[in-house]
This record gives sequence, structure tokens and C-alpha cells, in this order.
Amino acid sequence: MIGTKAGTQGAETRISELEKENAALRIALEAAEEANQAKSRFLSSMSHDIRTPMNAIMGMTAIGQSHIDEKARVQDCLDKIRTASSHLMSLVNDVLDMSRIDSGRMTLNQERFSLADLVHDIVVIVRSQAVQKEQSLRFHIGRIYEENLVGDPLRLRQILVNIIGNAVKYTPAGGSIHVHFAQRPDQKDRVDTVWLDFLCEDNGIGMSQAFLERIFVPFERVQNAAVNKIEGTGLGMSIVKSLVDSMGGEILVESREGEGSRFTVSLPLPISPQARKTALPDGAEVLVAESRGDRSEQIEICLREAGLRPVLLEKGLEAVTYLTEAHYEGRMPCALLLGQELEDMAALDVASHVRQLAGREFPILLVSDGDWAQLEYRAARSGVSAFVPCPLFGSRLLETLSRFVGSGGEDGGGLGFRDGDYSQYRVLLVEDNELNLEIATELLRMTGIQVDTAEDGRQAVEKFAASSENYYDIIFMDIQMPVMDGYEAARHIRGMDRSDAESVWIAAMTANAFVEDARLSREAGMNEHVSKPVDLERLQDVLSRRLS
Ligand code: ADP
Repeated sequence: MIGTKAGTQGAETRISELEKENAALRIALEAAEEANQAKSRFLSSMSHDIRTPMNAIMGMTAIGQSHIDEKARVQDCLDKIRTASSHLMSLVNDVLDMSRIDSGRMTLNQERFSLADLVHDIVVIVRSQAVQKEQSLRFHIGRIYEENLVGDPLRLRQILVNIIGNAVKYTPAGGSIHVHFAQRPDQKDRVDTVWLDFLCEDNGIGMSQAFLERIFVPFERVQNAAVNKIEGTGLGMSIVKSLVDSMGGEILVESREGEGSRFTVSLPLPISPQARKTALPDGAEVLVAESRGDRSEQIEICLREAGLRPVLLEKGLEAVTYLTEAHYEGRMPCALLLGQELEDMAALDVASHVRQLAGREFPILLVSDGDWAQLEYRAARSGVSAFVPCPLFGSRLLETLSRFVGSGGEDGGGLGFRDGDYSQYRVLLVEDNELNLEIATELLRMTGIQVDTAEDGRQAVEKFAASSENYYDIIFMDIQMPVMDGYEAARHIRGMDRSDAESVWIAAMTANAFVEDARLSREAGMNEHVSKPVDLERLQDVLSRRLS
């Protein structure tokens, strides 16, 4: 009897094991089917999304060719081709990012960066989009503990530009968007880490609760007439979510249809050990004329932390009176910080008055949300010495101030940007693809620089070897080339026995746009990594950093 019972038990155990195995197999099968379906959905969305801009490019090229003598028509076609190709480019970049993320091959850079630079880059990118839609886009900076941080600034920018860009896209003309940055200490008391809290709120078309559950799924977009008319791939949010996750952060989306959306992102970021220091005279008085309470408070904290003594006034007239008396009594503050929207007087009128009474040398710094390129001419004529851009970061304020006050003295620049004249410089452009060579040569020549070309790595090495020392200032080097690739060519050049072998600047110019590729270029001795398709702005950026 006992034996039979044991036999029954053994059979039961085997049956339950088999059931478990079956269940596991069923789950695996379902997962495989789901993955397969996801892949098919992905491919069909991709082929649709690629075809749409491709059709525009091919169609517009054909139209342009058949009206080649009508300048306006051709111009219109070229504009449409440019829009469609930039959409295609962002789609390709998004898909490459997605595949990197999916296969776990995405690496984040760990480099030192300035939060102020990051935010200013973002403002420049998104402000023009909001201006076009006549939206009010306001940035506000709360408490900032550390501006010098460590992380991947490009990926951070991608997260923030995606979210703010969507707020602009999905908010009708005339709407408003509010962006807020602040920091808080780490909850686990890690002294070397600070949390960046970012909030973006819009009063746009919003999303339903049902959609919010799918917002991070690739290719998901709200399906309605309003969204269908707006260009997009539905990949941005899933990339943002993956990036935030891989940075160890959190993202929260709240929204109501027809009312607006609010995105909150929190990210832990290590603090950079090397902070920039500015030399400012201890205890020196700085007059601040600012009607906005929050900004005035921010300026006060920043000046006090730098050891300066702020005197805060709310009105322009008060500032003029204060400085008139101070001038008469010979106790002038070391500078005036002037907010742009004073309640009682136009800031530039205050600047003119102060310039007249205080003389040419007195520093008047305009603290403004405005676009400096547009303000510059009038501001300079009114006597403004320099511009402190907003959203306001302490480092920007103190760096600008230290150019006029303290050990450095005025740099004489203050106003205006230098136009690069590169006509006395020479570059060697190495590129095997004829069309790419033509485009890059044309773009480089637009900057005035002299361009020599080589069609593969070996030719480049030969041309460099045959040139006199310091003949080339920069080598722009394609990577994938026949005969000898760019990495090898760079290594050959670096290994040559001549004085400029190490110093000549080599910039990789390649379609391999990933972080690892940038690392490989660095390992081959290259100084820069320029992703293709190259644009004039990026080339100018390299030239100005290398040659100015
Ligand atoms: P897309 O390229 O379509 O903008 P995203 O992945 O960035 O793709 O966003 C997915 C979808 O989420 C959008 O298509 C849109 O329907 C919705 N969405 C994202 N941000 C907002 C927002 N601020 N307001 C309303 N809808 C939004």
C-alpha cells in the first residue's frame, strides 16, 4: 500500500513538473509571438514613416528639375526637400537610438559639463520654434547647488529638447509653456551627487488617460486629426524613457485632454570636482535694479555667495537717483546689474542716463530673457557694456561681471561677436564619396578657408607627408574609405617624424554617429568627431574653436 501511495505521489509530482514546463513553454511562445508582432509592427511603421519623406524628396526633386529655369519654384522645392530630409534624418537617428537601446549597446558618456551651457543650448534650440507659433515660452531657474556636473550632456539635451519640443508641437499657437529647472541634494546623502529636477508644463491639446499608459511604447501617437497633422515618429518618448531609466532617473507624465500636459524628470548627476572660479573683489558693492522679485532674489544669493555686497532696488528711477548721489559722493558701486523689464522706465533709458552720469568705464550689465542678437545694437548705443543671458545662472553672471570688475578688467569684447576670417588657413578634406566630397568642399569654402582634397586614407597620408610643416591647420577625415580607412590614416599621420605630426588637428567626419565611434576616433589620435551629414554650423564650430 505504502509503495503504491509513493508511486502515485511520484506520478503526481511528474505531472505537476510537466504542467510547469508546459506553462513556461506557453509563456515563452507568447513572448516570442509578441516580439514577432512587435517587430512586424515596427517594420511596417518604419517603412511607412520612411516612405513619406522619401516621396516628398523624390517628388520635389522631379518637380524642381522640370522647372529648372523658374527660380522661385526651384527654391520652394529645395525648401521642401530640406524639411523632408531633416525629418528623415531625425527618423533615422531615432531608429538607430532605439536599436542601440534595445540591444543594450547604448553607452552613456561620463564627461564634465556645465548646466548653464546645457540650458542655454536648449533655450536656443526651442525658443525659435515657440516664437514661430507665437507661444509664451518661459524658463525659470530655481535653487541651483552645483552648475558643474558629470554626465552625458548630449543625451541630456536630447531628453529635454524632446519634451519641450513636444510641448511646443502639441500646444496650439498662442499657448503657453513653462519650463522649470532646480536642484536638490541627494536623499541618500551622497555629497558628490545632486538631483536635477526638470518640469515642463503646457496648456496644449493634452492626452487621454488611456494614451498615457502607452506613451512610452515605440511608434505610439495619439490618433486624432490634430496630431495626424503634426509631424512626428512616435519614437521620441520611448527614447526619452529609456535614457532617463539608464541614467537612474525618473519620469512622470500627467495630462488631461484639451487642458495640457506636465512632464517631470528627476536625474541624479555627479558633481564635477573642478568648478570654475572667478576672481571678484571681496565685499565690493553691486547695484541691482530689478523689478522681478524672483530674479532679484536669485541675483542676491549669487552675489552674496561670491562675496559681493548687493544693493537691491526695484525701480529704474531709484537706480538713477542712487547712482547720481553715489557719484557725487565718490562711492560708486563696482557695477550696475539692470533687469530688462523695470516697472517704471525702459531699461535702455536707465542705461543711457547712467552712462551719461557715470562715464565710459562704468560697467552696466543687462540681465535679460531677450534674444541678444536682436537687442545688441540698441543696447550698445544706450551704453550697455555686456549682456547676461537668462535663464539666469550664477556662473554666467559672475563670469560676465569678472570681465569688468576685479583682476581681469574689461576684455574690450563685451559686445558683438567676431566673424571668423579663415582665408589664411588650409584644410585637407579626406572623403571617398564624390557627392559628399563636393558638399563638404562647398561648405568649407563658404567660410573662406582653403581646401585641399584626398580620396582615401593613403592619399591623405601621402599629401600630408609631402606638405611642408604646419601647412595644414585641420584635417577632416572620413572613416570608412577604400585602400586605407580614416583610423589607420590618422595613426600614420600621428606616427610621422615631423613637428606637426602631433599638433595637426584631425576631425573625424563620419556617418558613424555613436559614442563608441567617437571613442575609436579619439583612440586613433583624432581630436574631434563630426557626424554626417555635416552642416555648415558644425563645421564653423570646429573651425572657430581650432582657429580663433
Ligand atoms: P512624436 O514624434 O509623435 O512627437 P513622441 O514619442 O515624442 O512622438 O510622442 C508620442 C506621442 O505623445 C505624440 O505623438 C503625441 O500624441 C503625444 N504627446 C507627447 N507630448 C505631448 C504633449 N506635450 N502634449 C500632447 N501630446 C503629447
